[in-house]
Amino acid sequence: TMEFTDRVSRVEPSATLTISALATELEADGVDVVDLSVGEPDFPTPENVVQAGKDAMDAGHTGYTTPAGHLELREAISEKFAADGLDHGPDEIIVTPGAKQSLYEIIQTLVQSGDEVVLLDPAWVSYEAMVEMAGGSLSRVDLSPYDFQLEPALDDLAETVSDDTDLLIVNSPSNPTGAVYSDAALEGVRDLAVEHDVTVISDEIYKEITYGVDPTSLGTLEGMADRTITVNGFSKAYSMTGWRLGYFAGPTDLIDQASKLHSHSVSSATNFVQYAGIEALENTDDAVTEMVEAFEDRRDLVLDLLEDHGVDVAVPDGAFYMMLPVDDDDQAWCEGAIEDAHVATVPGSAFGTPGYARISYAASEERLEEGIERLAAEGYL
Ligand code: PLP
Repeated sequence: TMEFTDRVSRVEPSATLTISALATELEADGVDVVDLSVGEPDFPTPENVVQAGKDAMDAGHTGYTTPAGHLELREAISEKFAADGLDHGPDEIIVTPGAKQSLYEIIQTLVQSGDEVVLLDPAWVSYEAMVEMAGGSLSRVDLSPYDFQLEPALDDLAETVSDDTDLLIVNSPSNPTGAVYSDAALEGVRDLAVEHDVTVISDEIYKEITYGVDPTSLGTLEGMADRTITVNGFSKAYSMTGWRLGYFAGPTDLIDQASKLHSHSVSSATNFVQYAGIEALENTDDAVTEMVEAFEDRRDLVLDLLEDHGVDVAVPDGAFYMMLPVDDDDQAWCEGAIEDAHVATVPGSAFGTPGYARISYAASEERLEEGIERLAAEGYL
């Protein structure tokens, strides 16, 4: 018989699996399920980006690339960073198949047995799994008592972060809450990171998707340049989830170490996909603006509909998610919502925060209306 590693045995299957299994079962029976559980934009990839990918393939860009990614792409990323106030030359950037792979490489490079990693809950599901696979231990700070904002939770964070802390992961705008952390909150993180010599990952994959706020990149704060690793990607801002393209940047010693892991595992991101990435960074301003405006309209629609039903939620300023307060047993609530109302959501406990369900509003206004009406009609609101 096969024996499996502690590394994988430690990791729990995702709490979202039960919900997607139920959804698949219902759909196979011909039931129309309103799926508000998805973590991806519902728009097609902008046409010019698709064309750039096809052109690159036709031009024969189908071989291996340099492991860190095409220089032209890393230069375009470097310019985007510069526009956000971050100073990272092409040598400090690694392009990966998705931001998820960036995070995996960073965590494998920085975390080993016994290291302490601090998460801000609710937190994106894969951080926990990645830290566990690396053998690290997790400490968690719950932002749910503070409408998911970090600034009022700084005292709690100060109680958690110590000289024993090795890594802190910050994700603003946040999946699953949509919260965008204030500058004062980020300065509080900086003060603690400097005081206790903590490295920080800033996952900025939703940075382009905000409503009336302009989030600061953590790495721009004084004292943070040499302790911050900034992660971003193409999946969300350019609706490119299936292309698998992301990147990270940080101090050169971190990049040197992570490069080994990168080249010995994935080799590089896909060649022609990298050309689509260049086009996305250089020629999609209007397309991104249109998508963000659509997300904002949908956010407002869902907030209005929930208010009509007397449900109060923390207003998200970014990403395309919000957290709906539900029963303490959120797993049961989500299972009930899909069985009775045929609406799929994700239980908050998947993100470390029971008592909530994550709603994704990356769906048409018609489907969002239908979903909220069904939840109300079946007594779930
Ligand atoms: N980080 C966060 C917070 C996410 O929500 C996601 C995707 O769901 C990712 C990273 C990874 O995205 P990708 O690997 O598609 O670039």
